[in-house]
Amino acid sequence: MTLKAKILGLSVLVVLVSTAMTGLLAYICIETSAIEQIIQDLSGITVASFIIATTVLIVLIYRLLYQIVIQPIKQLQTLANKISEGEEICDVNTIEASELITVGESLVKMQQSLKAKDHEVKKLAYLDSLTGLPNKATLVNSLNQMIDRAKNKHDTKIGVLFLNLDNFKTINDSLGHKIGDILLKKAADRLNNCICGQDFFALSRHPKLSTKNLIARLSGDEFMLLLIDLTSAQEASSTALRILATLAEPFLLNGNEVHIKASIGISIYPNDGNNAEVLIKNSDIAMHAAKSKGKNSYQFYDDSMNIHMARRLELESGMRTAIENNEFFLNYQPRVSINDPSKREFEALIRWQHPTRGLIGPMEFIPIAEETGFIQDIGEWILDQACQQIRFWRDNGMPNVLVSINISSIQINYGSPVLSIKNMLSKHDISSRHLEIEITESSLIENEAVAINLLTHLRNLGVAIALDDFGTGYSSLSYLKRFPIDTLKIDRTFIQDIEKDQESLKILKSIINLAHDLKLKIVAEGVETREQLDSLIELNCETIQGFYLAKPMLAERAASYYLNGFTLPVNSEQLPLYKPPTN
Ligand code: C2E
Ligand code: CA
Ligand code: CA
Repeated sequence: MTLKAKILGLSVLVVLVSTAMTGLLAYICIETSAIEQIIQDLSGITVASFIIATTVLIVLIYRLLYQIVIQPIKQLQTLANKISEGEEICDVNTIEASELITVGESLVKMQQSLKAKDHEVKKLAYLDSLTGLPNKATLVNSLNQMIDRAKNKHDTKIGVLFLNLDNFKTINDSLGHKIGDILLKKAADRLNNCICGQDFFALSRHPKLSTKNLIARLSGDEFMLLLIDLTSAQEASSTALRILATLAEPFLLNGNEVHIKASIGISIYPNDGNNAEVLIKNSDIAMHAAKSKGKNSYQFYDDSMNIHMARRLELESGMRTAIENNEFFLNYQPRVSINDPSKREFEALIRWQHPTRGLIGPMEFIPIAEETGFIQDIGEWILDQACQQIRFWRDNGMPNVLVSINISSIQINYGSPVLSIKNMLSKHDISSRHLEIEITESSLIENEAVAINLLTHLRNLGVAIALDDFGTGYSSLSYLKRFPIDTLKIDRTFIQDIEKDQESLKILKSIINLAHDLKLKIVAEGVETREQLDSLIELNCETIQGFYLAKPMLAERAASYYLNGFTLPVNSEQLPLYKPPTN
């Protein structure tokens, strides 16, 4: 039943009850005959008056109730409709009934909170919640708008810059996710200031900004920048350089000074694609090319990168299962001592027998492992494998063996190599005198304090330390004094040069003399000819490693080499595989 009908029914009921009450009163007070007379006299007039009075009363009650109840309810209904349609409401005071005013005010509050929620929802839809930058959906939308706009303009280009922070995963793993998040926020601020300095909060209200440069966070440590109205691709590379310089400044995170670098891939509209999907994909490919070319750099996309990228992705996914599928193995390359034949040393070098790609060298997959963080697991596997081999050799007639293993800068700066080494020595029950680790200068300079601390611990453990690839990169002689190092490994490029020019020979001579003064052992790497060997013997270089003496070989062949007396020169390929005696 409707409200109107209810009120009407109520009014009729009131009139009937009041009439009945009047009759009852008269019946109680006056004699029956007199009443009958009166009734007769008045019946005609009374009936007419009664009908008129009742009608007037009903109309009055209805009007009253309409004003007090029905009209305010109708107004509230209108307000509610306005709220649901998102219209502004502020005319609550026109509602007259006081209780209903309160309800109206509540509705206004409800509308305000709905509006705030609506804004939050928009922000979530358009912006990245951690950094406040636009998210991927906004970026794709804006890029499409920019492309549409550029189609109508002659000779205008759009730069799509895909930026990935180098080694972010390892920072996250070592310093924790909270610090990782702070780093991402700070990096986002720097990027925004560097490129556009925009208020992205405003963007969430007006998500159609296709006329300005844009920066977005795609996911994790991946950012993307859109540069509009470029006249040449070079403008994009200048921006990339500016970004790299901005990020190179150290970040202070909860008292830790963190250095971060980035790799940037650039694709250009219309040259490298005419829709958002292709441009983004190609900038991603170019970013990976930048990473594999040594990080902290930028690369423009070119078509040949696609083939390279497909292979890289295949290796990256294969790496996840390579350890459990026993696809890695170690080769051992002899380091031959010129003056002390009792020394029997090998460098362990990893190889990957890929199920479909065949044998893959470390130069190709170690950088991918470093970039993806797999190097921690692979490094642990190498250490385990090498220690197991040392133990086996020690127990099978090779008591003097020393194996040197390569430790990546990622393991040094973000892992816990001392603990791993300690555990492995104890797991395989071998002495630390059988083990040496090889580290490069670049891994020492990343964080000098960490490196010195690590090397000191290793030294205390009795593990020898070799500085690898000396002569490439920084080649700072001051390192030789500052860091606790036992061995200096002179890089192959240096050895090659001594044949060609006398200057290199002189420099090598002074390096060897200085190293001897500092009581360091010298290993010359990559010796390929008799002439190189002779020059090095003349310069008093005591240990030689290189194809001229022996190539890296399987453990079984290395054992034969050992037991054959580590003689010079030997064609290692002709050595029989060593088989341990069976009891
Ligand atoms: P590296 O530590 O400088 O290792 C020496 C590299 O030079 C080895 O290449 C070796 O096969 C090669 N080599 C040795 N003698 C000669 C020579 O006379 N001539 C020439 N041309 N090359 C020679 P490989 O095994 O391909 O390793 C390349 C690099 O990969 C290594 O350079 C090292 O940086 C990295 N690597 C290898 N194994 C491991 C590993 O187990 N862990 C880590 N983290 N890195 C590794
Ligand atoms: Ca090495
Ligand atoms: Ca080396």
